[in-house]
Amino acid sequence: MSLDLKISNTLSGKKELFKPLEDGKIGIYACGVTVYDKCHIGHAMQAILFDTIVRYLGLSGYDVTYVRNFTDVDDKIIARAEELGITPLELSSKMIQSSIDDLDALRVRPATHQPKVSDFISEIIAFIQDLMDKGFAYATEDGDVYYRVRKKSDYGKLSNQNLDALQCNVRVDGEDNKEDALDFALWKSEKKEGAYWSSPFGEGRPGWHIECSVMASQFLGYTFDIHGGGRDLVFPHHENEIAQSEGRSGCNYANYWIHTGLLTVEKKKMSKSTGNFLTIEDALKLYDYELIRWNVYQNHYSSNIDFNEKTFGIGLKKLYYYNRTLSSANELLDAASKYDEKLLEGFHPQSIRDNFDVAMHDDFNIPKAMVAINEGFASINEVLELKGVKQKFKIFTLKTYIDTLAPMLEVLELCQRSTSEFFSQIHNRYFEKLGLTIEQVESTLKKRGEARSNKDYDESDRLRQELDSLGISVMDTPKGQLWELSEAGLQKLVQNN
Ligand SMILES: [Zn+2]
Repeated sequence: MSLDLKISNTLSGKKELFKPLEDGKIGIYACGVTVYDKCHIGHAMQAILFDTIVRYLGLSGYDVTYVRNFTDVDDKIIARAEELGITPLELSSKMIQSSIDDLDALRVRPATHQPKVSDFISEIIAFIQDLMDKGFAYATEDGDVYYRVRKKSDYGKLSNQNLDALQCNVRVDGEDNKEDALDFALWKSEKKEGAYWSSPFGEGRPGWHIECSVMASQFLGYTFDIHGGGRDLVFPHHENEIAQSEGRSGCNYANYWIHTGLLTVEKKKMSKSTGNFLTIEDALKLYDYELIRWNVYQNHYSSNIDFNEKTFGIGLKKLYYYNRTLSSANELLDAASKYDEKLLEGFHPQSIRDNFDVAMHDDFNIPKAMVAINEGFASINEVLELKGVKQKFKIFTLKTYIDTLAPMLEVLELCQRSTSEFFSQIHNRYFEKLGLTIEQVESTLKKRGEARSNKDYDESDRLRQELDSLGISVMDTPKGQLWELSEAGLQKLVQNN
């Protein structure tokens, strides 16, 4: 099926047909983290969404170059390092490693290039010099360099503001040696220990916005396909990136701008002062990484995404169901020795993959793509429950559904562990949270088994209830007693108390 990829472009305010600069290739730049502290779940959400988008573009046959930077030269880093009594680069290199570890734990794949600002100081200086030579920037007597905003007549096009309106809202920021209040810093003359470099304009450090312009052009050229970031970066950061890059090159900077929404916790903005602030490290202690990813998929990337107990509960039940389904299907497939490929001729559950692709091609509509995933699992369950059909038919149908789902699940990083690994990790979390041990559960099951063989059904029911009150439900099967976490048990696992 041939589909058109459509992307909501912040620059035009419209959903547009995507045309790459070069057929079959896509260059993407997404603003990464400023590494002054541990990453929080807002960073996780943004990284997961771009990871998923990049994986999907890869699945669709594009050769993707994805650049995500680390901002390791910044005022916040300098301030925090001063508090801690270490150098800014000591702090940032520690935080870069922590960010890499966090994203790895969320199974976010590394970008093609992950540059950090401190490696590009000479390129930044050359870029600023070029802007000065072209009249887009000027140095002050104090050795600061500013971008001359009024020289760029279309400044404000991304955030849809005109210069006069901006003039009225401009903040007094103490940079009173500027020609115009709208001008922003490209180079700051401040000499902070461990965070300054020499330049033709004097010793100092780059401003934040110029850093992204430089790293993007280093890896993707003057013009590239997609620039992304959180919605909070549209103004001034992305607006200023456009001004700098287009001022220097005279070409369009990024053709498409995509912005992710913000993350809220129980519908409230996350902040340290309200006590609902969660680092990725803390979130992973509370929730399995796959559950965090599943939660991020519940709303369109451009909307806000909420982390709340209720959705986590629904998500955990869903993941449990996916894994139970796969485990039953795989059990049947493992038992089957040989397939007769001819049996399934003409059977392609293509509609599931088509629905997934239609959703993803329509501005990366992940929640809608999740509907296709659910459809796939429902179909597997229908086949598992079929009675009176040849085992061979069942096996082939299951295999085809599983093969159809596999690349879709890989894009989302769902069900990529073996089902036994999934269950053991979830159950270990559960036992740890409730202060139980697997031995306790097994010993109760054993006693219940004995009661049943002695036909002491009162005792066996009492033990079933005992397990049930611990969130464990028991099933009597031809293979003996099997257990799993009950709905109440799964809900307990995501409760924060
Ligand atoms: Zn940026």
